[in-house]
Amino acid sequence: RAKHDGRGAYRFFEPDLDAQAQARRQLEIDLREALAEGQFHLHFQPIYAASGDRIVCFETLLRWNHPVRGAVGPDVFIPVAEECGLIGRMGEWVLNEACRHARAWDPAIRIAVNVSARQFRNPGLNASILQALANSGIDPKRLEIEITESIFLDDGGDTIAMLHSLRALGVRIALDDFGTGYSSLSYLRSFPFDKIKIDKSFVNDISRAADAEAIVHAILQLATALGMETTAEGVETQEQLDKLRSHGCDSIQGYLMSRPISAAEAGRLADTVAAAARAA
Ligand code: C2E
Ligand code: MG
Ligand code: MG
Ligand code: MG
Repeated sequence: RAKHDGRGAYRFFEPDLDAQAQARRQLEIDLREALAEGQFHLHFQPIYAASGDRIVCFETLLRWNHPVRGAVGPDVFIPVAEECGLIGRMGEWVLNEACRHARAWDPAIRIAVNVSARQFRNPGLNASILQALANSGIDPKRLEIEITESIFLDDGGDTIAMLHSLRALGVRIALDDFGTGYSSLSYLRSFPFDKIKIDKSFVNDISRAADAEAIVHAILQLATALGMETTAEGVETQEQLDKLRSHGCDSIQGYLMSRPISAAEAGRLADTVAAAARAA
């Protein structure tokens, strides 16, 4: 910092960058504290069969209640956690908590957990998954790991091998936000994903833009031909749901059915579903 003279000029040109860097550093410090002090909690968003008659899965969504700033979204803090090396421990906590909650639900209901690109490259990931499975005792087939196309971007040539080693743990692998990355089609040839999640940007436009509907139709046909399941994300209107059904989408997720809910609410919802299934 310019200490002796010209401090006015220095401050005049630098405050924005400086403030940004400072805010970033503070966020890092706060994140470490948040992990240590248990400021994180999980929300779960139900994913329904397209028929709407049952829940097939809950997606785990990480929430942070900052003591001063209030709720901070994962889109803001996950990238910071990746850069400052906290994502491994954070991910481990999410995996453990998610599997622990899923244990109490009907075993027909899966649990999906997001894994970011840097986290995917973290050598401790497979061990964290095994530990979460062992601690909870849930069937590995109930755990679905959601990765995005971005894992192929910093491909050191070993991405496919890493996907296979992940699959070897017995878990399912879903390709999230499908269609938003680059040359997505080649990825479908390179690894047999269990599921494709169609990005909400396509779902959003499906009832007003013919091109979006054509793309969703093509993705669904392709997935079916390749033996992959499909989920549509961000379903907000009945019209979108009707379109998705008519094109043969397997399952649906979005505010129309339910927002992400607390663990307690998810537990109650899972119970009612199980009760309905027994009564049927
Ligand atoms: P995502 O995995 O694609 O999750 C779906 C996002 O869409 C969630 O945002 C969810 O709340 C939101 N959403 C669900 N239904 C609707 C809808 O009908 N309309 C709209 N507009 N949005 C809907 P959220 O919870 O803010 O999470 C954002 C992203 O942060 C996630 O995108 C995921 O990439 C990441 N994320 C969340 N939790 C975790 C985590 O535990 N670990 C990692 N690595 N990433 C996470
Ligand atoms: Mg996801
Ligand atoms: Mg998504
Ligand atoms: Mg996303």
